[in-house]
Amino acid sequence: MNIRSYINGEWITPDSERIVRNVNPANIDEVVCEFPSAGERETLQAIEAAREAFAEWREMPAPERGRFVSRVADRARQRQDEIARTMTREEGKILKEAVGEVRKGISLLEYYGGAGFRLNGQTVPSELPDCFTCTIRRPLGVAGLITPWNFPWAIPCWKIAPALVAGNTVVFKPAELTPGTASLLVELFEEAGLSPGVLNMVVGPGSAVGEAIIHHPAVRAISFTGSNEVGRRVIVESARTHKKVTCEMGGKNALILMEDGDIESAVAATADGAFGSTGQRCTATSRVLVHKRVKGAFIEQLLEKAREYVPGDGMDPAATMGPVVDRKQYESILSYIEAGKKEGARLILGGNKTGGNGYFIEPAIFDEATPEMRIFQEEIFGPVLCVTGFEDLRQAIELSNSTQYGFTGSIFTRDVRNIMRFIEHAEIRMVHINEPTIGGEAQLPFGGCKATGYGDREMADEGLNFFTQTKTVFINYSGRGERAMIR
Ligand code: NAD
Repeated sequence: MNIRSYINGEWITPDSERIVRNVNPANIDEVVCEFPSAGERETLQAIEAAREAFAEWREMPAPERGRFVSRVADRARQRQDEIARTMTREEGKILKEAVGEVRKGISLLEYYGGAGFRLNGQTVPSELPDCFTCTIRRPLGVAGLITPWNFPWAIPCWKIAPALVAGNTVVFKPAELTPGTASLLVELFEEAGLSPGVLNMVVGPGSAVGEAIIHHPAVRAISFTGSNEVGRRVIVESARTHKKVTCEMGGKNALILMEDGDIESAVAATADGAFGSTGQRCTATSRVLVHKRVKGAFIEQLLEKAREYVPGDGMDPAATMGPVVDRKQYESILSYIEAGKKEGARLILGGNKTGGNGYFIEPAIFDEATPEMRIFQEEIFGPVLCVTGFEDLRQAIELSNSTQYGFTGSIFTRDVRNIMRFIEHAEIRMVHINEPTIGGEAQLPFGGCKATGYGDREMADEGLNFFTQTKTVFINYSGRGERAMIR
């Protein structure tokens, strides 16, 4: 793969001595790409190009801007297989999951393609006679979009599409581990006929490219998805130049199984949430809280189910779980497994490195995890699941709420009182009943609270709102220059 940055309508190779070499996580001898990374200079060029392009782009009628995004959706559908294969090679997820992610991105492009027709304000009655009052929504200017490697296609889709349809121009910074998938998306926008400067992509490290974006005064909005450590910095630094900011960060999501819940479907949902995408999802199930009376039966079935997740090369149809993304992630997950053992949790399945020439780890299950343990509190971002028993719903919700995060959660029960209390008291913003903790849909808002989410939510109309500012308009046709007193 030939990786370049895309600035002002041109694909450029930065003149840099910093060479990035990405390998296939399923076979570390296979170099996927090797490229000189961009830095501050290229980022400043991209911001300047976006700033210049804004004046013309914002004048284009919103439905027309949406049509560009619809054209990208059509093209993406034609190249679905190529995009998915690129993703599997550079990120590792199995091909079936990669295809699912491409389709989800296409749904988002379709949703926002039509959103140009719905960029509505409100008409509101004035308290004064002969005065018409309304709100209109207008773009912010240059938007900086910073994304992680774990959903290298869907996340850029759900940020770039609403930013452009709302009339902003974009500087997009993908994760350095997954530039191939990001480049395909930008290529599709180029083919759709976007003018130079409207969408720019800079491929380089967070310490240079990301920092230049968050500090530049011409960048008026930042939409960030990634770790808490970086997200906190993005929030604080962006405030210095009064940017609008949204950050979606880590999670430590719990699934609750009540005594009356269906064990078999809770087992399937837990395994899917914990080991699907190798546990590298912000919505992954990393804790399962089980009523003490059904815990024995649940664990017995879960051990059986977890054995269906066999690590292997994502291109191989026999593989049911891909490798983890890189050496750093691999070592971090293995060190959490060691920490869990030392803290006194009981490792009842897996957790070993497995064969092959990639970053493969067996699914791991710890029983008797308690809230004092790091494996209960911290985001591991790998195929590691903690099991904890509880006596009643109150204790289950307390356990579920007892981490700094507030993203997603699920309850398995047939009792409507349990369902309603969970909806009300779980400190999360994505609430699932009798289904896994994972998933989101283009037309539904997505995001978390507490340490997970900061600022507006993403996807749906809320995602579009983030990229606009509301103007309040007073049209006075009384013929008098002054405003009458409100009675
Ligand atoms: P990361 O924070 O390391 O990197 C995210 C992005 O920020 C990358 O593009 C990176 O280059 C950039 N970056 C790094 N340092 C920067 C800096 N100083 N200034 C500006 N940008 C900088 O995260 P990651 O390892 O790529 O992704 C995994 C994390 O993302 C996990 O914590 C996961 O939970 C989270 N995530 C959250 C959601 C969500 O919707 N809440 C979705 C997916 C992933």
